[in-house]
Amino acid sequence: PKVVCICAGGCTSSGSLKILERFQTEIEQRGLADKIVVKPVGCHGFCEQGPIVTVEPEKLFYTRVSENDVPALVVSIAKGSPVDRLLYINPENNQRVTNYERVPFYARQQKIVLAKCGKINPERIEDYLVLGGYRAMKKVLTIMTPQAVVDEVKSSGLRGRGGAGFPTGTKWEGALHAKIKDKKYVICNADEGDPGAFMDRSILEGNPHEVLEGMIICGYATGSDEGYIYVRAEYPMAIRRLKIAISQAEAAGYLGNNILNSGFNFHIKIKAGAGAFVCGEGTALMASIEGNRGMPRFKASRSTEKGLWDKPTTMNNVETFANIPTIIVKGALWYSSIGTDNSKGTKVFSLTGKVVNTGLVEVPMGTSLRQIIFDIGGGIPNNRKFKAVQSGGPSGGCIPAKYLDLPVDYNSLGKVGAMMGSGGLVVMDDTTCMVDVARFFLNFTKNESCGKCTPCREGTLRMLEILTRICEGKGEPKDIDDLERLAKVICGTSLCGLGQSAPFPVLSTLRYFRHEYEEHIYNKR
Ligand code: SF4
Repeated sequence: PKVVCICAGGCTSSGSLKILERFQTEIEQRGLADKIVVKPVGCHGFCEQGPIVTVEPEKLFYTRVSENDVPALVVSIAKGSPVDRLLYINPENNQRVTNYERVPFYARQQKIVLAKCGKINPERIEDYLVLGGYRAMKKVLTIMTPQAVVDEVKSSGLRGRGGAGFPTGTKWEGALHAKIKDKKYVICNADEGDPGAFMDRSILEGNPHEVLEGMIICGYATGSDEGYIYVRAEYPMAIRRLKIAISQAEAAGYLGNNILNSGFNFHIKIKAGAGAFVCGEGTALMASIEGNRGMPRFKASRSTEKGLWDKPTTMNNVETFANIPTIIVKGALWYSSIGTDNSKGTKVFSLTGKVVNTGLVEVPMGTSLRQIIFDIGGGIPNNRKFKAVQSGGPSGGCIPAKYLDLPVDYNSLGKVGAMMGSGGLVVMDDTTCMVDVARFFLNFTKNESCGKCTPCREGTLRMLEILTRICEGKGEPKDIDDLERLAKVICGTSLCGLGQSAPFPVLSTLRYFRHEYEEHIYNKR
C-alpha cells in the first residue's frame, strides 16, 4: 500500500492532527484501507511549509495542506497521480518538486540524528526496528566490552551537543573507571530552554527510541543500571511519547532486567522539570531530580565521580545520545570522516527569526553560516538584508554579516564571541535594533537567574535597567562603560554558566554594533 506520512510533531500547531483524522475517514469511506495507510510521523524539519504530508514510496511532498485538500489527495494517491497545486515549488527555478529529496532545503542537509524523523511513527517500536532500531544495542551487548564501547565513542570524536562540547567518550570513560562502583546513573538532559530552540523536542517527539537506545548503550559502557530523562513539563507530547517508548522497549526486552539475556540491567525513568531555564545546568538539574530546589551547586569534583545522589553520573543531552546508535552501527571511522578536525559528525540547528525557511536543519560540522541561512534557509524574507544571527541562545552571541562564511564548529564560533550552544540560530534582518536584541536576551537571563549569587542576581538587573534606558532614548555616555564593567564582573564571579554567560549578547552586540548603542545615546533615539 501507499503510505501517507503526516507530521504529528510541529505541524500539530497548524492543524495536522485534523488532517490525519480526515485522511482516515476519507480512506475508510472510499474503501481504500487496503491501498492507503496513514501514518503519524515526527517533524519533517521544513516547519515553514507545514502542515506537511509525504507519500511513500513515491516521496511526494505536499505542503501547507488543509483539511479541505484531503479528498482530492486521497483520490490522487489511489490513482497514482500527484495533486500539482499542493506540491512544493522550488524557488530557485519555479518548478514543482515531486520528490522530497530534490527540495533544496533537504538536498543540502546530511541527516544522522534526524534520519528517521518524519519517516517512522514515534509511537510504534516496530517502525523503529524496521529501520535498524536497537541493532546497535544488540551489537554492544553481544560482542563489545564496556571499554570497547567507550573506545569507539572516543574514536568517533563525538562531543556533547548540549553546548559545552566536552568529548563524550572521555566523559563515559571517566564514569566507567570512577572509584565508586556500587551505583551509577545516566542522565539525559532534555531541559531545552533557549528561546528559538526546538531540536531536542523534535527528536524526542519524532524518534524517542533512538534516545533510549543511546542511553542504554551508555549505561552498559559506564556500568550504570539506572537512567533519568529530565524533560521540561512544557513538552507534554515528548513526555507522552517517551513513556510509550519506554513501555514498548520494556515489553520487547530491550529495557529492564537481564536485557536480551545478557545479564545487563537498565531502567529509565522520566523526571518532568517545571521549566526553570537554570535546571538545564548540570548541578541544578541533579538537585531537581533529587527533589531539591533546582539551583546550581559548587562542584568540587566531576559528575562522573560524584553526581546524582553523590554517585558517578554520566549526563549527555538528547542529540548526543541520539548519535550513539549510528556510531556503533556504522563505526567511529565513518562518523569521524564527517565534520572538521575538532568537531566531528553533524549538528542539528533550529533556524528561526528573519529567514525564509524556518525549521530544523542538520548539517555536517564545518558548514558555513551562509550555507545554512541562505542555501538551506532560503535567505532573508521581504528583500531585506541579513544583519546578524544569534547563535547559542541567551548564552551565545550575535554574529555579524562579515562572518557569514565562518565554518560552524565548536572552535570557530567561540573565536568571534559566540558559541554553538545547543543549536539555536535566530536570524535578524537590517530592521532589527541590536540594542533591543541584547535587552531581550538579558531580560530572559535576568528572569531565569535563580538568585543564589549576587553578581548574577543584581548585575543582570542593573544591566537590564541600563539597556532599557538606552532603548528609550534616555541613555548617558557613561552607560556603555558601565555595561562593560558590569559584564566583566558578572562573567568572572557568577557561580554557574547562566550568570557567567548572561552578558555575552550585550558584549557581542557592543563588539560588532557599538554604533547602534551610540546612536541611541547621542541622538536620544
Ligand atoms: Fe543562580 Fe545566576 Fe548564580 Fe547561576 S550564576 S547560581 S543562575 S544566581
